[in-house]
Amino acid sequence: MNIDAQRLVRTFQDLVAIDSPSFHEGAMAAEVRARLESLGLTVREDGAARALDGESGNLFTALPGTPGLPPLLLCAHMDTVEPARGKRAVVGADGTIRSAGDTVLGADDLAAAAAILEVLRVLKEGGLPHRSAELLFTVAEEPYCRGANAFDFSQVTAREAYVFDCDAPMGAAVTAAPTILQFSALVTGRAAHAGFAPEEGLSAIAVAAQALSHLTWGRISPTATLNFGLIEGGLATNIVPDRCLVRGEIRSTDHQEALGLADGVRLGFRRFCDLAGAGLEFTTECPIQAYRTPEDAPVVRRYRAVCEELGLPYEAITSFGGSDNNVLAQQGITGIVCASAMHRCHTCGEYSTVAELTALAELILRLLTRSE
Ligand SMILES: [Zn+2]
Repeated sequence: MNIDAQRLVRTFQDLVAIDSPSFHEGAMAAEVRARLESLGLTVREDGAARALDGESGNLFTALPGTPGLPPLLLCAHMDTVEPARGKRAVVGADGTIRSAGDTVLGADDLAAAAAILEVLRVLKEGGLPHRSAELLFTVAEEPYCRGANAFDFSQVTAREAYVFDCDAPMGAAVTAAPTILQFSALVTGRAAHAGFAPEEGLSAIAVAAQALSHLTWGRISPTATLNFGLIEGGLATNIVPDRCLVRGEIRSTDHQEALGLADGVRLGFRRFCDLAGAGLEFTTECPIQAYRTPEDAPVVRRYRAVCEELGLPYEAITSFGGSDNNVLAQQGITGIVCASAMHRCHTCGEYSTVAELTALAELILRLLTRSE
């Protein structure tokens, strides 16, 4: 029993045709759920819709298999980045699949969703023996894995995971990814009329500017970056601004380094706020924590073996971006992020190919039918 490439491409096109920007995954989740249920699976939706004020929660289902081997967790996300409305997957004569040009394609991450659905059909129709699997289709992955962070992992029994969500040549896999920490510094001064009584005011913008000019940013070390990405404050040109909000992010492959850098930013703001007598509210959020999956972990060895069988060159990648696998790692699940038939993601030039989509499904099929 083999992957039906035509059917797979049709599934992919059907999914791409559904709008599913982050937090608006309602129609996509309904479609994925219907397809899973038509295969006899029981799908549970969690409470992430309410928690995130989105249209749908994360979908989770267990696929029972031959007893003996522990289940594998397969994970893909249902949301896409903008521009994502009115997407169409156009298959070229050479097998390249692109959008019509004015939206992303959504191969990130619908290539993975389509491949997983095709594999489930092949397993069912062929009556193939396979190991148990647990399937997690997340919402809101693009905005710092908000969906996965809201998921209740107590229902997951798998300790090994394959997250299909990587823009790289087939065969590659991310085995290490950084902590991504977001911070915000709210500086409060004192408002006053800028013309009549400027000396009565305390400019929050001026204080924030001093702090910013004394802090280091950009590539901080070989393993870390720091960026102040957003700044807002002030109400009018004739008012001394009493409020300035600075927001940024820190990335590091070393979680402790990220925490230390965040503390450095806090202290930098604290110093100039204290000097000026301004107030400071400093908060951090860390939705994505660093992980490193060892090369000799079974989850990697199994993937390498399957890649070899399929003639795909295995390559371990250290990423500087996050994925749902960061969240899985925090839950004690050892996983990797596999190359998933997607290229130039997050642009209108995003593309996939029929051959890679098919290879992805073959790869997933073999992961589930291997006897180790
Ligand atoms: Zn993705």
